[in-house]
Amino acid sequence: MEDVIQIKADPRFIRQVKSLGGEPLKECMQCGACSVVCRLSPDENPFPRKEMLWASWGMKDRLIGDPDLWLCHQCGDCSSTCPRGVQPASVLSALRHLNYLEYAYPRFLARWLSKPEYLPVVVVIPALIILLILWMAGTLSVPDGPVDYSRLFPHTLLNSTFSSLVVLVLVAYWRGFRRFIRDIRKKQRVNIKNQKEIRFLYQLKEILLHTQFRKCQTNRYRSLAHILVLSGFLLLLLVTMVAIVNVLFFDYPMNLWHPAKIAGNLGGLALVTGTMMMIWYRLFRRDTIGGSTYSDWSFLAFLLLLAVSGILTEWARFGNWSAAYVIYFIHMVLVWIVIIYAPYTKLGHVIFRFAVLLLSKTQSKG
Ligand code: SF4
Ligand code: SF4
Repeated sequence: MEDVIQIKADPRFIRQVKSLGGEPLKECMQCGACSVVCRLSPDENPFPRKEMLWASWGMKDRLIGDPDLWLCHQCGDCSSTCPRGVQPASVLSALRHLNYLEYAYPRFLARWLSKPEYLPVVVVIPALIILLILWMAGTLSVPDGPVDYSRLFPHTLLNSTFSSLVVLVLVAYWRGFRRFIRDIRKKQRVNIKNQKEIRFLYQLKEILLHTQFRKCQTNRYRSLAHILVLSGFLLLLLVTMVAIVNVLFFDYPMNLWHPAKIAGNLGGLALVTGTMMMIWYRLFRRDTIGGSTYSDWSFLAFLLLLAVSGILTEWARFGNWSAAYVIYFIHMVLVWIVIIYAPYTKLGHVIFRFAVLLLSKTQSKG
């Protein structure tokens, strides 16, 4: 008697994928051209054809915890090749988003970040917390004299609150990461038994330099945009950490030529340039990278506002602007928004992608 394969279809899951940009799903005729053209797809277990099939059948169980989703860089090579005008790049993006919602800890924050109706809450909560901290510290007023941000937010207070924030975010990342690893281990989607396969430094280099991503052809400069955003963000984070650790040794406020200031300015510039490039791609290359969701736009908007407000904060101090403290406050709120919600936005995918790259045995096409 032939084996019977039982498929657990989930119509609600199909509707979710469609609503997140996977609308032309049903048009797929399973020709496989997308998997052939994808330079990141491994020969022995190619994507995205199988994901297109699973998604059109609503096979949620297969797609939640599918490691191959995280090997895709949404370059659009597959979408520009598809003879049916289906957008596999967009479908895979929707599936990654549904994975965030599944693995995020706590999950309600991921829901908040994915729906525009929660935007006021997302913004107001960090603003109120910062106001409360300043009020409790007795510094909630606009100081007289030359602009000195430490009179509004004293360094020790700033450093202790920021450090606590980072610890909370790391806990959230860790919980989400553990859920993800446990799931793919349970489903045996990747072989994670052979520790020799784990090449930490090699994969770290891959993530930082985007060597696989740079193989993509259709939107070849998206990898550059990605590198700029990632390096700009990491540089700014590093400068902040160094400033926290060395608060006793730095001469505050730092002058423009201080190494940490130069690094911070370069990071801000990289972040603005990379984010603008990403926005350009989302506006003008929809035919290949697919439609963008609210989460895509809100994430890019917060990143851009963060970088621009950071640059304005610096100019306001050197120029002694009367609105300096207001700009600084807005910048602080944006820092909190980007950091505290990081595990629930596109910054969250860093951890999933890294986990899959570390654990997967598969190699992409050369
Ligand atoms: S998504 Fe397009 S290219 Fe890929 S299998 Fe379906 S029809 Fe073919
Ligand atoms: S978007 Fe690019 S990386 Fe992702 S499946 Fe398509 S061709 Fe491959």
